[in-house]
Amino acid sequence: MSDRSKAFSRRHFLKGTALGLATLPLAGTVLRAPSARADELPRLEEDDPAAQAVDYVHDAADAADHPDYEEGQLCANCQLYTDENGEWGECSVFPGKLVAAQGWCNVWVPVN
Ligand code: SF4
Repeated sequence: MSDRSKAFSRRHFLKGTALGLATLPLAGTVLRAPSARADELPRLEEDDPAAQAVDYVHDAADAADHPDYEEGQLCANCQLYTDENGEWGECSVFPGKLVAAQGWCNVWVPVN
C-alpha cells in the first residue's frame, strides 16, 4: 500500500468516525421517541372492531362472566402491557393506542 493510499485510508476512517460520533445524540433522540409519544396516543375504545375481536373492556370486572377470564387478570399485570402513562398504557396487541391498566382482553398473558 502506498503512503498516499494509507493517508487516504486514515483520513477516510477518521471522517467516518467523526460522522458516527456526531450522530450519536440524534440516535438517542430517535430511540427515545416512542415513549415520549405515549402521552399523545388515543385511548382504545371498547367499540373499536379490534377491541371487540378480543373482547377488550376498560374494566376487568366487566369480563367476570367471560369464559376465559380468571379473577385478578388485568392489563396492568399482562406481559403485553407497558405502563407508560399511569392509568393507561401501551399494549403490543393495539399499537398506537392506549389500553386501561384496569382493563382486560382474552389475549391476557401472565408475566413470567
Ligand atoms: S393483551 Fe394484555 S395488555 Fe393488551 S389489552 Fe389484552 S390484557 Fe390488556
